[in-house]
Amino acid sequence: MYNFHTHNELCDGEGPAEAYVLSAIEKDFKALGFSSHAPIPVELDWTLKKEKVDEYFSIIKNLKEKYKGKIELYLGLEFDYFEKKEFQDFYFNNKEKLDYNICSVHFFYEKNNFYIIDGKLENYIDALKILFNDNVISFVKKYYELIRKMIIEFKPDIIAHLDLIKKNNKKNTFFSEKELWYRKEILSTLDVIKKSSSLLEINTGGLARGSIEDFYPSEWLFKECYYREIPIIINSDCHNPSKLDAYFLEAKNALKKAGYSFQKVLINNKWVEVSF
Ligand SMILES: [Zn+2]
Ligand SMILES: [Zn+2]
Repeated sequence: MYNFHTHNELCDGEGPAEAYVLSAIEKDFKALGFSSHAPIPVELDWTLKKEKVDEYFSIIKNLKEKYKGKIELYLGLEFDYFEKKEFQDFYFNNKEKLDYNICSVHFFYEKNNFYIIDGKLENYIDALKILFNDNVISFVKKYYELIRKMIIEFKPDIIAHLDLIKKNNKKNTFFSEKELWYRKEILSTLDVIKKSSSLLEINTGGLARGSIEDFYPSEWLFKECYYREIPIIINSDCHNPSKLDAYFLEAKNALKKAGYSFQKVLINNKWVEVSF
């Protein structure tokens, strides 16, 4: 049992980091990685405050010491990718201080405005209207273009929730994943992942929180990932200590059906393959 996508009360998780450690020990985890939302250029209530970053680092480092021999703990951050170079400084200035990193696209940014993709539906509709003139194909294509740029420029250890753009697309309100243009777009993104050294996250958090009815990425993509020999990691994107391993069994079963029998995780500070 492992999880490398874990939030806590310093960003938008419930409860202190230690509560997640205790839950992980109880669930017989071998390793747990923390990945608070890194600060972004605008202050939001769900990201780590800039002035709290050092405190976060020291909390996790202290927990590592305290629970040595009981569980392996790792220090990470979930970073946001932006095309704007000045917004990338925090990532490049901090990634070396961490055991690993997770990289995400949660926003479109234009003209001093941050448009959140996985927030309220009205924000999603705003972004679609203001930035893309209600052209959903351009909107979704831009999202995947940002993901591909993130992979190439940031070289993340872990690519978070690949198809987050679907979160606000309940009941296919805006597009269907079956449409040819969509399939082409996401499959060409998988081709970029294949050429990278990043791990693709199989994220069970949307299912655990009831916000979507599938994994990130959707289960139909597991076979496409397997054909491409893309290495994966199963994460719960945990915001509540009791849900550390939510939907792991379902994820493993679905991955097995696609051909996977192992994931890659950090053990003894090295990425290694472990079977499931
Ligand atoms: Zn995220
Ligand atoms: Zn997260």
